[in-house]
Amino acid sequence: MGYQYDDQNIFAKILRGEIPNNTVMETEHCLAFHDIAPQAPTHVLVIPKGPYVTFDHFAQEASDAEIVDYVRTVGKICADLGLEADGWRLISNAGADAVQEVPHLHVHILAGRGLGRMLE
Ligand code: 5GP
Repeated sequence: MGYQYDDQNIFAKILRGEIPNNTVMETEHCLAFHDIAPQAPTHVLVIPKGPYVTFDHFAQEASDAEIVDYVRTVGKICADLGLEADGWRLISNAGADAVQEVPHLHVHILAGRGLGRMLE
């Protein structure tokens, strides 16, 4: 299946500096910022700078350097925020069934409250 990247999506606009964001961390290949409508005391979104729609799109087409930077950035944010003490959750929604709102890959980092069981 091929992915069509829409460069008018809101995270593309954030990456181009057309919309402001509250940056948590920026690296060569990624940007992390606070979610505009946080679902937990910590709600950070981590996005690659490249034009990838979903996790599988990224995993198939990104370079090793982009993938390593992305994974390490997520881990570094969790460490820097001290999330290992009480725990945290990663979510990445893809496509219609998961109700992906923004068609640019993002991982949600959620923490700071009891998050309940996700899979029953
Ligand atoms: P999705 O449903 O695609 O997994 O999540 C998209 C997330 O992006 C939502 O949690 C939503 O609150 C967040 N979001 C949407 N527009 C903006 C924006 O302009 N700025 C920021 N920081 N977050 C946004």
